[in-house]
Amino acid sequence: MKLLKDKILSEGKVVNEHILKVDSFINHQVDPVIMDAVAKEFAEHFKNKGITKIATIESSGIAPALFTAKEMGLPLIIFKKQPSQILYHNLYQTMIGSYTKETSYELTLSKDYITSDDHVLIIDDFLANGEAASGAIRLIRMSYATVAGLGVLIEKSFEPGHDKVEGNGIEVFSLARIKSLSNDTIEFLD
Ligand code: 5GP
Repeated sequence: MKLLKDKILSEGKVVNEHILKVDSFINHQVDPVIMDAVAKEFAEHFKNKGITKIATIESSGIAPALFTAKEMGLPLIIFKKQPSQILYHNLYQTMIGSYTKETSYELTLSKDYITSDDHVLIIDDFLANGEAASGAIRLIRMSYATVAGLGVLIEKSFEPGHDKVEGNGIEVFSLARIKSLSNDTIEFLD
């Protein structure tokens, strides 16, 4: 998606060869024009998949997921991060390793919001090792719902997430695929 790639090139900051900072338009300051365009791409791509709900992981996925939910006229479910010692009733929980913070946390979903009839599209900002996406897939499957696909804004294609999620039988649709962040340079795959 050209608009997103241009924005990444103009405002993205290479922190090191693994981490790209995009907090000027995705997760600290949010650019609604980019979010609206991203949502239209996701809505068009996934329009015939019988999707009933959008899901994301707090907090960086919320902006693009909410715009996508609005565009598709569907509810948004936000998977919550909880410290691992907290045990609530009526929740599905699964453990995730955090990419940026090098810690683990429990991802949780209330049993009230996804049922076995749902076809759920997961939207997130980044796909790196695929830990967050795999946790989201596990939660949806614990509800006996169907995972309809994964849409991400930025895929770091040099990391294993894409193959891991597709290996789980889930379609991955990435709007910008990064081949490398080496030498302080952002290089796209296509
Ligand atoms: P994964 O679980 O796929 O390894 O990582 C997914 C999550 O880690 C994303 O939702 C995102 O919040 C965070 N993340 C992974 N790589 C990056 C990165 O290069 N930059 C930023 N800002 N976040 C990242």
